[in-house]
Amino acid sequence: MSTLTISDLSATVAGKQILNGIDLTVSSGEVHAIMGPNGAGKSTLSAVLMGKPGYEVTGGSVDLDGTDVLALPAWRRAAAGLHLIMQYPTEVPGVSLDAVLGEALTARGRSTDNLHELLVDEAARIGFEERFVHRPLNVDLSGGEKKRNETLQLAVLQPKFAILDELDSGLDIDALRDCSRRVEEMSNDADQPLGVIAITHYSRLLEELRPDRVHILVKGRIVESGGPELADVLERDGYTAFAPDADVAESTDAAAGPRAQPASLDDLFSM
Ligand code: ADP
Ligand code: MG
Repeated sequence: MSTLTISDLSATVAGKQILNGIDLTVSSGEVHAIMGPNGAGKSTLSAVLMGKPGYEVTGGSVDLDGTDVLALPAWRRAAAGLHLIMQYPTEVPGVSLDAVLGEALTARGRSTDNLHELLVDEAARIGFEERFVHRPLNVDLSGGEKKRNETLQLAVLQPKFAILDELDSGLDIDALRDCSRRVEEMSNDADQPLGVIAITHYSRLLEELRPDRVHILVKGRIVESGGPELADVLERDGYTAFAPDADVAESTDAAAGPRAQPASLDDLFSM
């Protein structure tokens, strides 16, 4: 059993205060949904948890089973058991998925003997074409294929905690169902149940991936927490009741703006 404890976490981006004291505790097997309007700080939270460059933590702590997460570089956070599914998965020309996963498993001290069988098995489970396994990571894949690919990586690496930053963006209904169902299965795994922070605009993701708790993030703060019924309230009433003056216009991927682009390769390698 593992616990991820986020305490009073504050952070700035480009000198602008974005996170304003986030408190959240997630244990193995629990699914916590974080919902909020555009610009609330959802992706910033995922970036700060994972250690993406350019984000400055100005207060608070993140603890994973006694380890000070914020003191570690991104790759050590991953090795310690944190995994991020990015809102916009990065394309990595020249590096295949099986090579990436082989390196990642080796860095975790795990065997790669059965990697091929595992990949074939997981690809079939998630509806991901096996031929993509040997192709450059995410290059020329559709939005849905990228998210299936990300979900496959999650299933192979078996981290303790997964942060899903809008797993549902750019996905068709079938891919959404396959991906969210697989994550839900992992959260119910008898041996090593995955803890999940699922960031999303829409309650649709939460039809297969059943949240234990739902939190509403507005202006870098959790303003309301509740059970799964809170997602239904949001679906019905929108964010207005929780964020009267926030930009709660119908959110689309396009509305996320030009800033929300895939990380550059420089970003990736400096992590
Ligand atoms: P969400 O994921 O909830 O839509 P984000 O975390 O992406 O929100 O963004 C929160 C706020 O931080 C927005 O106002 C956004 O413009 C700002 N922001 C995020 N990243 C950067 C950045 N790299 N440079 C400048 N501002 C940023
Ligand atoms: Mg976002």
